Amino acid sequence: MLVCLLALPFPILKGQPSDESRVYPLPHGSSTWSSGFWAQRWSSLKQDMIPSMWELMKGDTYKPFYQHFLIAAGLQEGQYHGAQWNDGDFYKWMEAVCLMMAVEPDEKWDTQLDTIIETIALAQSPDGYLHTPTLIKQRQGDTQAKPFQDRFNFEMYNMGHLMTTACVHHQVTGKKTLLDVALKSAGFLEKAFENPTPELARNAVCPSHYMGLMDLYRETGQQRWLDLASHLIAMRDLVEEGGDDNQDRQPLREHEEIHGHAVRANYLYAGVTDLFLESGDASLWTPLEATWKNLMEKKVYLTGGCGALYDGAAPYGSARQTQITRVHQAYGRNYQLPNLTAHNETCANIGSMLWQWKLFQATGEARFIDALERTLYNSLLSGVDLQGKHFFYVNPLQHLDPPPVDLRWSRERVRFVTSFCCPPNLLRILAHTPSYAYAVSDQTLWVNLYGSGNLQADCPNVGPVNLTQETLYPWNGSITLKIESCPQKPFDLALRIPAWTPSAQLTLNGKPLENLLCEPGKFLHLRRDWRPEDQIKLDLEMPAQLIESHPLVEENRSQVALQRGPLVYCLEGIDLPKNTAMTAVAIEEDFQPRIHHRPNLLDDVHVIEGRVRIQEPGDWDGKLYRPYQKPRSTTQRVAFIPYYAWANRRPSEMTVWLPLAH
Ligand SMILES: [Zn+2]
Repeated sequence: MLVCLLALPFPILKGQPSDESRVYPLPHGSSTWSSGFWAQRWSSLKQDMIPSMWELMKGDTYKPFYQHFLIAAGLQEGQYHGAQWNDGDFYKWMEAVCLMMAVEPDEKWDTQLDTIIETIALAQSPDGYLHTPTLIKQRQGDTQAKPFQDRFNFEMYNMGHLMTTACVHHQVTGKKTLLDVALKSAGFLEKAFENPTPELARNAVCPSHYMGLMDLYRETGQQRWLDLASHLIAMRDLVEEGGDDNQDRQPLREHEEIHGHAVRANYLYAGVTDLFLESGDASLWTPLEATWKNLMEKKVYLTGGCGALYDGAAPYGSARQTQITRVHQAYGRNYQLPNLTAHNETCANIGSMLWQWKLFQATGEARFIDALERTLYNSLLSGVDLQGKHFFYVNPLQHLDPPPVDLRWSRERVRFVTSFCCPPNLLRILAHTPSYAYAVSDQTLWVNLYGSGNLQADCPNVGPVNLTQETLYPWNGSITLKIESCPQKPFDLALRIPAWTPSAQLTLNGKPLENLLCEPGKFLHLRRDWRPEDQIKLDLEMPAQLIESHPLVEENRSQVALQRGPLVYCLEGIDLPKNTAMTAVAIEEDFQPRIHHRPNLLDDVHVIEGRVRIQEPGDWDGKLYRPYQKPRSTTQRVAFIPYYAWANRRPSEMTVWLPLAH
C-alpha cells in the first residue's frame, strides 16, 4: 500500500548540512554490477586493466613506480627516475585493487598488497615522511634533500593519495598495515605545518591531502585529522602574491569564479566540500556554490570535460594587470570552450566527479549526480580504450588530420604517458562505480545510477534492504528495481530522474502510478511499506536529441551536438565516405535519427544514424578569407558513435559539434 508519494523540492541550504539533507555513501562492496554495460567494464577492470597496470608499474619498462619504494627501503639499488607524483599514482592503482577486492575477494591480490605495503612501510622515514624522490636522495647521502623544498615536488599530493588508499584498504581488508603508515604521514604533516610560513603554505598543488585527511578522520573517528584538514585549508590564505593557477590569488571564501589548473581547482573544492560536510562551517558553502555554478553554467564541456586550455592567463583581461599570471591545463574565461584544442585532462574530469559526489552527500540534490553521470559516461570513459590498456591524458571534442596546431599531448591513446597521473586515477574511479550507484540517509535509500546489479544496504532506522536492478541502460531507459528483502518498516526509495529526459513514467507491481510528479533533474521520493517482491519499473524517455550551446560559446555558434540519454555522440571520419574532410560535414536540420544496435561494433554499442550534408569546400589554398560562395553538396546518412568509444578503430578525424546545414 502506497502511503505517500512526493517529489521533494531542493532543500534550501543556508549553512551546514543538516541531518535531513546529509546523505551517506555505503561501505564498498555493498553494491555490485551483474550484467550489461557496467558489468562489461568491471570485467575489463579486473581481467585487463588492473593486471596490465601492475605489469607496467612493477617493472622498469617505463618508469619504476614500485621499484622506487624498494630503492627507498634499501631493498634494491637504483636512482629515482620519474615524475614527482609517481608515488601517488601507485597508491591510486592500489586503491583500485582494494575496491575490486571489496566486490570480489581475491587472495592473490591481497597477498600481493601485503608485500607491497611491507615495502612502503620500510621506505617511510621514522618521522612519517614518505616521498620516494627525496628519500632516495637522502639514502644516497644527499644532505641537501629535505622535505618541502619545492612546492612542485607534490609531496602533499602523494601523501594524500596514501591516506585515501589506506582507508579503503582498511575498510575492505580489516588490516591496519597501510593505515598505520598513513597515520604516521599525517602526523608528520601535522608537525611540519604547525606554524606555517607564507612560503610553506604554497605546498598545496593538486591537493588530494584534504580529501585524504577527511578520509582518515572518518575511518578513525579522530578529531585531530579533521582539525588538520581545516588548518591546512585555512593555511592557503597565508600565501602572498599567489596566482589563479593554484587558486591562491584570493582568500578561499572570496572565490566566485573557477580559475586555473583544472585538477588543482577540482581537487581543492572537493576537499573543501569534505570539510564543509564534516565541520559544518557554513562560510565554506558560499564559495563552493559560486564556483560550482560558474563551472556548470559557463565553463564545463558537454562531455563533462574540465579545463579548456593548454595554456593561458588569468584573471583574463583584468584591469589589475599585476594580478595576471600564467595558467596551464586550466579553465579559460567564461564561455571559452574550444573543441579542437580542449585540454580536459582525465584527472580534472575525475576531480569534478569527486566534487559532485561530495556535494550530493551534502544536499541530496540530483543536479550533482546528473553532473557526475555526464562526466562518467563521456569524458571519463573516453580516457581509456576498449582493451583497457591505452590512455588519453587529454580529452578533446574534435580531432582533425593533420591537426592545425602542434599540441604536447598525444591525440591517440597510449600505453604510457610521461605524466601517468590519469591512468591509475581512471582505474580507481571505475572501481568506485558500484559505490556511486546508491547511497542512504535516514529512512531513505537513494538510487543514483542505473545499471544491472545487486545491492545489500543497511538503511538508517530501517535495517537491511536487498534490492536488484535490471536494465539495458544507457542503451535504453527502462529500469526494473525489485525489492528482494526488507524489514517491515516504511522507507523512501529515492529515484533520480535525470535532467536529460523529457519525461518519465513509473509502475509499481505492474500498475501505473498516476498523479506522480516525475520531475527531470530531481529525485523522486517513493515512501511506502515496501514488501519483498515489490517491483518498480521506471521508464525514462530517451530520444536522440540535437543539443545547442549558449550563444556566447563562440566555438559552437550555429552548431549542434548529438546526445541520447547520458551519452554524448560523435562522428568519426572512418564512418564518412572516403576522403571526406570533417570540416566539410554539416548536420541536416531534418536529421531523422534512427537508433541501431550494433553488437559487433566497438564492444557492443547503439549507433545513431542520421542525415548529414557533405559540402564541397572549394579552394582555400593560401587564403584565410574569400567572398562567400554557396557550396555544392550531397546528403548522406551516416552513423554517429558514443563519444567514449572514439579512436578505437584506426586513426581518424572526429567531432562532437557540427554546423547545422542551411
Ligand atoms: Zn592526470
